[in-house]
Amino acid sequence: MNKNFIAGEWLEGADINLNINPSDTNDVVGEYARADASQAAMAVDAAFEAAPSWARSTAEVRGDALDRIGTEILARREELGRLLAREEGKTLPEGIGEVVRAGRVFKFFAGEALRLSGERLASIRLGVEADVRREPEGVVGIITPWNFPIAIPAWKIAPALAFGNAVVFKPADLVPGSAWALAEIIVRAGALPSGVFNLVMGPGSKVGDVFAKSKKVRALTFTGSTGTGRSIGMTCMERGAKVQLEMGGKNPLIILDDADLNQAVEVAVSGSFFSTGQRCTASSRLIVQDGIHDQFVEAVIKRLSSLKVDHALSEGCDMGPVVSQAQLKQDCDYIKSAQEEGGELAYGGELLTRGTPGFYLSPALITETTNQMRINREEVFGPVASVIRVKDYEEAVTLANDTEFGLSSGICTTSLKHSSDFKQRSTAGMVMVNVPTAGVDYNAPFGGRKNSSYGPREQGGYAKEFYTSVKTTYTLA
Ligand code: NAD
Repeated sequence: MNKNFIAGEWLEGADINLNINPSDTNDVVGEYARADASQAAMAVDAAFEAAPSWARSTAEVRGDALDRIGTEILARREELGRLLAREEGKTLPEGIGEVVRAGRVFKFFAGEALRLSGERLASIRLGVEADVRREPEGVVGIITPWNFPIAIPAWKIAPALAFGNAVVFKPADLVPGSAWALAEIIVRAGALPSGVFNLVMGPGSKVGDVFAKSKKVRALTFTGSTGTGRSIGMTCMERGAKVQLEMGGKNPLIILDDADLNQAVEVAVSGSFFSTGQRCTASSRLIVQDGIHDQFVEAVIKRLSSLKVDHALSEGCDMGPVVSQAQLKQDCDYIKSAQEEGGELAYGGELLTRGTPGFYLSPALITETTNQMRINREEVFGPVASVIRVKDYEEAVTLANDTEFGLSSGICTTSLKHSSDFKQRSTAGMVMVNVPTAGVDYNAPFGGRKNSSYGPREQGGYAKEFYTSVKTTYTLA
């Protein structure tokens, strides 16, 4: 059994979590310890004890630790990518791609540790020196979802450690394998002092709740659904802790009449259906101008029918299974609700049988939808996209912004005027022109607006906003 890592030791949990392969439910990926609330509290205590000395460690020591971790992740990309594909259902190339991203994130923040800088301001008082510096927050709580089981933990753990914080980390219950493998590398290759990094696998309602409520956790970063994020956010704010929430999306992709049709189809299919559509940045609303609408729909259907949906590790697989039975039911319920409201299931949405028992669903395209339908208001989080027909660019922009979410948005067009205007008027945190709404650079800020995000941006140089606290000092020499 793979154990939790608490206070410098590998510990058994209160019970055991069976990690099941969604491509083959007979395949148990592994047994993982599940901690309870008392073990979560133990981890928080250990991190609290360890935080001050880690905060005083040199940037070089921290940078070197991250660099070694990144090197090992990259060297083991095939093996870890296979594990990820097996437990989460991404295809093998997608799994390997995610592992590479995680490795590169550690390398990036190894450098960021050394680059952290302050500022000298001109004081308004004669002879006084005014300095601004950044210091670690102390203990950072990290709670992650199942859909990027190694990349999201990496892009939170790496900056937390780089800037001198101690970490308590809780991965999603559904996918403990990649998180455990990452933790094992951090513990061994990172050679961190005892208590600086703690892995606490277990249910959100027990382990995550302790992180959110503990006064010793000064900053909490969460990625997951909007409902859970909101409630964790309230708990943190009640006790005055810093909180960063990355939540759901209902991302629009506009296709204008002047778009390059082949490019638009690739952008839409990749953004909506790759990684089985289980991405917060997935294009779930395809807003298509009247003149290109029919051609576009026909070409997307043709492209979807060429996709191979199968066991995530099978040769040539384009789209793996849905992650779980519960998620599959949610996807099917949304497809049904769209049809009941007048949408037409133009392609897919069928349960598929493959060589192994798994949660297989063909990519679903729903046409003739309006922006008011449930399918276009709520996040589905599966291989389901709907098409909304619009008369012109103005209507497209209005509908794209008419959502409670604001993570990512996109436009396919050859018009400089419209792409420039859209970059300005889109109410999303990330705007894409002729590239998929999903798929971002690890050295650029990531995050959204409205119900999609709360708090400072993640990743790139902007990550320091959350993982450090600004201190201003005045000195009269
Ligand atoms: P979820 O909200 O169910 O769970 C996320 C994490 O929170 C898990 O680790 C879970 O165990 C924990 N948790 C659950 N209840 C808790 C509680 N009461 N207290 C503390 N922790 C608790 O989300 P999920 O189903 O794992 O992930 C899918 C969601 O994640 C989607 O909504 C998706 O859009 C979102 N997501 C957002 C981003 C982003 O960056 N915006 C990225 C990936 C996924």
